Amino acid sequence: MPASSSGSLIDGRALAQDVKDDVQSAIEDWTTQGHRPPYLSAVLVGDNPASAAYVRGKERDCAEVGIETNTHSLDASVSEAALLDTIRDLNQDDGVDGILVQLPLPGHIDEQKVIDTIAPHKDVDGFHPANLGRLLRGNPAFIPATPFGILEMLRRSAINPDGMDAVIIGRSNIVGKPLAALLMQRTANATVTVCHSHTEALADHTRRADLLVAALGQAEYIGADMVQDGAVVIDVGINRVDDPSKDRGYRLVGDVDFDAVRKKAAHITPVPGGVGLMTRAMLLKNTLTAARRNAE
Ligand code: NAD
Repeated sequence: MPASSSGSLIDGRALAQDVKDDVQSAIEDWTTQGHRPPYLSAVLVGDNPASAAYVRGKERDCAEVGIETNTHSLDASVSEAALLDTIRDLNQDDGVDGILVQLPLPGHIDEQKVIDTIAPHKDVDGFHPANLGRLLRGNPAFIPATPFGILEMLRRSAINPDGMDAVIIGRSNIVGKPLAALLMQRTANATVTVCHSHTEALADHTRRADLLVAALGQAEYIGADMVQDGAVVIDVGINRVDDPSKDRGYRLVGDVDFDAVRKKAAHITPVPGGVGLMTRAMLLKNTLTAARRNAE
């Protein structure tokens, strides 16, 4: 790939708005055909301010495109059995298309059990084993929003991963693993390497990457010396670093040293204004998909 003096920005804000506009007009068509609007139920356990803020953000996004929502706010001390009952009620409710349980959950609750209880056809996060299995098999039902957003960003930026060496840093169930499965499939055709905390000589891998996805959760860890000239760099990380000049006392940065890496990359996503906004937009797309399925 050619070297570049300064990589072009993949503008997550603009791309996410495009996705939202598409979802909104699809919902208008859907309701014009006589269907009720899609409906998302969120379940929020406890009063973690970050989780509450995420749920409020999702409610606002939904309202913008015409998805109806409600949030079941449960006390942090709620028993696992009571939480599972809430989910079972939502599974049974024909008026609910999508169910989202905001993670993380308090320590006394088994997250896997909670995810496994969500009906797969309402699992808009795509975390249920049935949905992850389908994704691995190559006929996904719901794709987890972050990897879905990354694929959509590439597609809308006319970046075709076919034949690329893709290196993903991070092997979580919500980002690295599903993204690896998606990028290696016939629909994307990349050659995928997944690196993690036990990978030796990380830079030897990252320097070969035509497509580098950083999802390790370490502020500005990926420096220019770890990136090939002309690479496409997707920064998933969202990290707080202290910044007394900000009212709130911190700013958000990615896993990539943006200013340095931008000089080498052909394309790069910023933080904020990148993958995070696409992630939010793809949840809306999944909720519309759920509504269509549930109407069948
Ligand atoms: P996680 O903590 O579950 O996983 C991190 C992964 O990175 C692990 O697999 C670990 O092995 C690997 N890792 C950690 N340090 C490493 C190192 N030094 N070298 C190589 N590998 C290393 O995290 P996650 O939930 O996948 O999230 C990762 C980051 O992405 C976090 O900053 C998170 O806030 C962010 N995130 C952003 C979005 C979004 O919408 N933009 C969505 C999910 C997560």
